[in-house]
Amino acid sequence: MYGILDSSESSEKPNDNQLDVLRGEVDSIDDGILGLLAQRREVARRIAAEKQRVERPFRDDHREEALLIERLSAAGKYELDADLVSRVWEQIMADSLRVQFDYVQNSVNGRKDAVIIAIQGVEGSNSHRASLALTPNMAQRDFISCSRFSDAVNAVKDGRANIAVLPIENTTSGAIAEVYDLLLDSKVSIVGEVKILVKHCLVGVQGASIGDLKTIHGHPQAVAQCSNFLASLPDVEVIYATDTALSARRIAELNNPTVAALAPEQAADIYGLDVLESGINNRKSNYTRFVAVAAEPATVDPQVPAKTSLVLSVSNEAGSLAEVLNAFRAEEIPLVKLESRPTVNNAWQEMFYMDFEGNVGDQRVQRVLEVVRRHTMYLRVLGTYPSRDLRPHRRPSPDPERVIQVAAPGQQPTEKSASDGPYRLAGRKDERPETVVDVNGVLIGGPELVIIAGPCAVESIDQVMKTAKAVKESGGKLLRGGCFKPRTSPYSFQGLGWEGLDMLAEAGRVYGLPIVTEVTAPEHVEKMVEKTDVLQIGARNMQNFALLTEVGRANRPVLLKRGMSASIDEFLQAAEYILAGGNQRVILCERGIRTFETSSRNTLDVTAVPVLRRRSHLPVIVDPSHAAGDRELVAPLAMAGAAIGAHGLMVEIHPDPDTALSDGPQSLTLEGFDQLVQALSDRVQ
Ligand code: PEP
Ligand code: MN
Repeated sequence: MYGILDSSESSEKPNDNQLDVLRGEVDSIDDGILGLLAQRREVARRIAAEKQRVERPFRDDHREEALLIERLSAAGKYELDADLVSRVWEQIMADSLRVQFDYVQNSVNGRKDAVIIAIQGVEGSNSHRASLALTPNMAQRDFISCSRFSDAVNAVKDGRANIAVLPIENTTSGAIAEVYDLLLDSKVSIVGEVKILVKHCLVGVQGASIGDLKTIHGHPQAVAQCSNFLASLPDVEVIYATDTALSARRIAELNNPTVAALAPEQAADIYGLDVLESGINNRKSNYTRFVAVAAEPATVDPQVPAKTSLVLSVSNEAGSLAEVLNAFRAEEIPLVKLESRPTVNNAWQEMFYMDFEGNVGDQRVQRVLEVVRRHTMYLRVLGTYPSRDLRPHRRPSPDPERVIQVAAPGQQPTEKSASDGPYRLAGRKDERPETVVDVNGVLIGGPELVIIAGPCAVESIDQVMKTAKAVKESGGKLLRGGCFKPRTSPYSFQGLGWEGLDMLAEAGRVYGLPIVTEVTAPEHVEKMVEKTDVLQIGARNMQNFALLTEVGRANRPVLLKRGMSASIDEFLQAAEYILAGGNQRVILCERGIRTFETSSRNTLDVTAVPVLRRRSHLPVIVDPSHAAGDRELVAPLAMAGAAIGAHGLMVEIHPDPDTALSDGPQSLTLEGFDQLVQALSDRVQ
């Protein structure tokens, strides 16, 4: 069948061009080897299908070892070097495994023949090349060409594209900050990655020559990666372009021999340009890693080598980052990347991006995440995805009891086990210490009773300034004030909105008090995060799941109030939404529930405090004001809250309660507040 191996005839014939003939033979043997490798691949694919049909695992260590030994002993027969054979077959077997992994992975996520890919740039760009490499078996690929990375992500969010392919790091110029920030801000998940060799060329129109060039167009990344070459052309002006392939297109349009562009070879082909100089990047091994992002996370079969990416911010305790890293070491999970970025809204607080070898569906990974969570203020799994970087290696066979869940974007996919219960993140586990929420240095959840006070609603700068002064002087630690008021009646005062928040922020700044304000709409969260230190979720919104999901993605502590008819179980499940979204800083607030009793506005459920503390590691505070509805009852309820173990109290106060635009009857005067804090002085520092 493979006659090419029989070379005896031609080599015996005398020939003037003997060398050419021999080279021709080698070429045809190599062609035969390639043909055989392709055939072997096809058989591997059929084996994958068969293994799946009969439910056999893809890895078979014994078979792999036996096969290698067989090949090695056959090597002797052909007098081939054992080292060569073992190296070649290791590669062949790794390829065969990858083929099988691709097969199983496609069947896990539903094989599709067509895909719409959003990229920054045009055809011929490196993103375009990376997209082709990421989707090798796709019959049809349509591209949406975007001018910015964020537009490509938006195309995925809007459902116009299945995936967006974005460059995330380069071996010469490092991390691509804009893409990292986009991953944090948007709800998309990483579903794939690929590394491609990036070779920059200098391209120009026909007839152009390097000596005549006046300007070179190039993407900033390309310019950085070709800095040595460009330094050798000091008289040529560099013009920054938004993408590599687009600059090639522009050069073709300009048709000016004094203008050239930095672009990939493919772009020169597509736009009919000449390559004036090839491979001008400083480093020849110049790779860019691209990630594919999708609206939903991918589920990766446990047998497929996978990476998982996380984004987290560590808590302020000394050694938190070391604890996080140790958690990976303890489970022997290799970290393959650690990158840090400053956060936009929290000065000097870093966001860490981590990639590790592992699958979020794996129990070892779940154990690590559990430990990591204790040392983080924010933790989000960006996705688990197959990685071709990792050599398929032997790993323990999957646990038959595990169930992989596909989580909503931002949620932590976890394995189900009978013991997990409904609030696996909010719930108390024996070894888990209580969470202390750090609000700009004010610790809620520690031994000190933290007093939060302020008006029900911000009404004027004068009102909020007077109140803030009183809060500070009496020993309160946080200033509260509603700006968007969810009122039962549409005719009641609805709050001053963003204008009110500016007043509250100003008062907080003047008196050095972090501020707490209620957020009532998911679309307000992003702007709120910029302006407030704690996001309050009001009782009426405790089960507003869109809002909970949104604050769960925010990097700000959340004060979650118990719904007036919510059970403790429902309350903790609402907290669970926030934690599952990534935000680990949740403070629970008991504010009175609705009972048959009408003598007070609500009934303060004092029992809830020890029950919540027993069931959850989260800090618990008490709001006596909304429970009482009556100024005279506020102090006794506050004392009860303190006595029963609350970590803090939130009290409504007003310089002139009788004129208050909301909740005047339950607001303490500034003097009344001072007396209350004095009375609590043994627990307030
Ligand atoms: C508030 O704190 O001002 C408020 C509206 O409280 P609740 O959501 O508990 O009614
Ligand atoms: Mn109120």
